[in-house]
Amino acid sequence: MQIKLTNTLTRTKEVFQPIDETNVRMYVCGPTVYDRAHLGNARPVVVFDTLYRLLRHTYGVEQVTYVRNFTDVDDRINETARTRRENGAKGSLEDLIYSRATETIDWYHSDMGALGNLLPDHEPRATEYISEMVGMIEDLANKGFAYGAEGHALFRVDRYAEYGQLSGRSVEDMIAGARVEVAPYKENPMDFVLWKPSTDEEPGWGGPTIDGVSLGRGRPGWHIECSAMSKSLLGDTFDIHGGGLDLQFPHHENEIAQSCACGDPFARVWMHNEMLQVEGKKMSKSLGNFFTVRDLLDQGIAGEVIRFVFLSTHYSKPMDWTEKKRQEATNTLKKWRAQIGEAAAGDVDPKVLAAIADDLNTAGAITRLHELSKAGDIAGLAGSAAFLGLLSGEATTVEVPTEMSDDAKSRIDALIDARKDAKANKDFARADAIRDGLIAAGVDVLDKPGGVVEVALTPDFDVQKLPKA
Ligand code: AMP
Ligand code: ZN
Repeated sequence: MQIKLTNTLTRTKEVFQPIDETNVRMYVCGPTVYDRAHLGNARPVVVFDTLYRLLRHTYGVEQVTYVRNFTDVDDRINETARTRRENGAKGSLEDLIYSRATETIDWYHSDMGALGNLLPDHEPRATEYISEMVGMIEDLANKGFAYGAEGHALFRVDRYAEYGQLSGRSVEDMIAGARVEVAPYKENPMDFVLWKPSTDEEPGWGGPTIDGVSLGRGRPGWHIECSAMSKSLLGDTFDIHGGGLDLQFPHHENEIAQSCACGDPFARVWMHNEMLQVEGKKMSKSLGNFFTVRDLLDQGIAGEVIRFVFLSTHYSKPMDWTEKKRQEATNTLKKWRAQIGEAAAGDVDPKVLAAIADDLNTAGAITRLHELSKAGDIAGLAGSAAFLGLLSGEATTVEVPTEMSDDAKSRIDALIDARKDAKANKDFARADAIRDGLIAAGVDVLDKPGGVVEVALTPDFDVQKLPKA
């Protein structure tokens, strides 16, 4: 079967031919881990999970390697840790950063798992690949593509002639777009950071040595992280590189410049999903117009309903999350579940497969599921739905205990009061232990401005697991 994918690099739909059919390789930019994933962040996960399923089906489960990183060194992570410390969290900045990153990765796994996504084969954390990043920066400097200045290493954009090819922009356009930061240590405002100095309390590692001078303690820039992790796990040249459209420039343009300047061609096919929008604007943390995947799950919306809504729109089109779509997806899945009952899943329907192989035409695949349902092809419906990550395992409606029993309510209230007291007495270890105990019992604890604490029960809530007040 032929797979066709739209390649951002060539702006055409191309027949996909892997470099090595026994090792098909895909890299997707993962989240920066400082907070819960918002709904928009889940879109690339579902899109590339669908592609991963197609590749596994076509070439074999063992023949596909999917890498999705965690960016666990980033200024936004440092900012979040500083804010938490100002609000009374105890520990060094580095401890707070590490624990928050680990906590966020756990949330990410449970939220993305609830949407029916498979785990990638590798999920590297950027901080585990610092020496590879340092090595790459030194290599770039030796070849004249990078220079050191005031503790920074910078990429010399005008040395790389193909710069702008992916996003189709000229260097003049990019400067006019003013997304470039002017800084005294830059030879050219377009040059981007490969390495920057850290203060004593910020996370830092020994930096690259350029022209015999060590840059000293610092941390990598964001773009070099993905170049180094993909090279380490997939090699210099691999098949597919994906991510959201917002990453096309500058992030992916810079990844290409770094990796190709080191010598070898980089990813062959580049794919970008369009944005999830709220009232015509990209859903994003910086715009404040977001809600999290967990918010929806906590409202009792099943993960597969969210997945179904995502699959109903082609990845290359912007989409909105609406109440109407949620309702329709819920009804459809409920109907199909009842129709399938205990019946065994058959093979994936050829038309479903053909739709997905045609540049991930997920909406076409769903149309076909409706036809299978109408025709009463239960085995085909069940097998095809499972291939798309739907209707397998969990029920359409997750039971969420919205009504707390009086006993649970008074026990949770007592714990929240005890946590407030502990904070007032500056016993932050105890306050954190109480919060962790609540979370372990399936209670989400949300600290709102002004010291207001809200609690929400998750589907895992177990009154037996509540700690003693
Ligand atoms: P970040 O943690 O901001 O680096 O984003 C992680 C992933 O989510 C990237 O692939 C982004 O392109 C993607 N992303 C962020 N916002 C949206 C959105 N509103 N719609 C779709 N994808 C998004
Ligand atoms: Zn990346």
